[in-house]
Amino acid sequence: MPKRASDPAPRVLLFYSNTGGGHRAAAEALRDEFQRRYPHVTVVMEDFLLRYTFWPLSESDRFYFWAVEQWPGFWRWLYTVTSLPRVYLTIIRVLQWVLIPRVKRLYKTHAPVLIVSLHPLLNHLPRRALHAWHKEHHLSPRPPFATVITDLTTFHPSWVDPEVDLLVVGTQEACSRACQLGMPPEKVQILGLPVRPGFKNLPRDKGALRRHLGLDPDKPVVLLMSGGQGMGPVERIAREIANQVDVQLVIVTGRNGQLQRRLQDMAWSIPVRVLGFVEDIHLWMAASDVLVTKAGPGTIAEALISGLPILLYGYIPGQEEGNVRFVEQHNIGLYIPDPRRLAHTLAQWLQNPEQHVIPRSERARALGFPQATEQIVDTLIGLIPAETRPQPAWAPPD
Ligand code: UDP
Repeated sequence: MPKRASDPAPRVLLFYSNTGGGHRAAAEALRDEFQRRYPHVTVVMEDFLLRYTFWPLSESDRFYFWAVEQWPGFWRWLYTVTSLPRVYLTIIRVLQWVLIPRVKRLYKTHAPVLIVSLHPLLNHLPRRALHAWHKEHHLSPRPPFATVITDLTTFHPSWVDPEVDLLVVGTQEACSRACQLGMPPEKVQILGLPVRPGFKNLPRDKGALRRHLGLDPDKPVVLLMSGGQGMGPVERIAREIANQVDVQLVIVTGRNGQLQRRLQDMAWSIPVRVLGFVEDIHLWMAASDVLVTKAGPGTIAEALISGLPILLYGYIPGQEEGNVRFVEQHNIGLYIPDPRRLAHTLAQWLQNPEQHVIPRSERARALGFPQATEQIVDTLIGLIPAETRPQPAWAPPD
């Protein structure tokens, strides 16, 4: 990490954690957009739970994957109990004795002009640390603190700290929930979820794109995803699709190397591409006709922009439950946990795309926020007081 003195560029601090791929993907999307639009700003991404807390919090990423995969009932219980304000606010109060000095040191090192949280556990505590640091050192003006919620509809109440300067949400449903949880409505903006800059201008020529990706331009493409970490019954679903549907199947296994190898070693009766973690997910979505996925908020937000009808096979209890309702109520997809029935429905959709695929695709596109990342970055920069606010790269000279 370069020393502050040798790097006078204004710094933006992004707090995230690797619990689920969505927080990190959203932080990376914001970082890339900051760097594209404001290249003279230094963006610092901090995996705060990993680097600055202690066991067991520092192992939150591993604990999270273990809990949601192996013990979903326990995860649901934990999520429900910690959703009670007196429980999570007590936990934060206890943690702040130890953690606030560490956060203040972080602020001292970076002297950020803006702090953004992309994680439910990183709002009250770092915001309180910021206010305390600011007061102790008589700094003026105080750098703004914003929260960008990476869940789509239902989210853990610890995302909402009414004292932050701005809360960015992805849907009207999330906005209503934030206000019910005590967020002043004038501080909430519905701008969409941060997605990779590539989603802003998706290629329109599907045939050419498929050829570019090594796919048959004329055969329907189904994209099977399972979050950043490759969770869930992907293998069973892939087998059922191969048995029942005449398509090209692209399976994205994310960071689950074992799953990737297992699927690559299998013999398939239809054309199947098995990919590991892909950076150009926007291209694979733009090349596809239907998405089969768990109800991850990031993936759903990207599918909306790409106009992809969605078949959901599962969800993480707690934070992803509302996403299932969202997809079904807006009539852009269905939740079908049984792999055989899911494949059967997929076959029906593809036999009659005018009835099943195209209308859902249009409704999905109408709900998407292709400009979300750019608008979020501009709105965040707008929070910085005028005298220290960075200007975009192409701003005309004064
Ligand atoms: N993702 C990706 N490449 C992959 C697999 C996933 O870029 O190979 C991205 C995906 O596009 C989405 C994020 O990882 O932006 C997953 O977030 P989501 O909220 O859907 O699920 P989570 O992994 O947090 O459970």
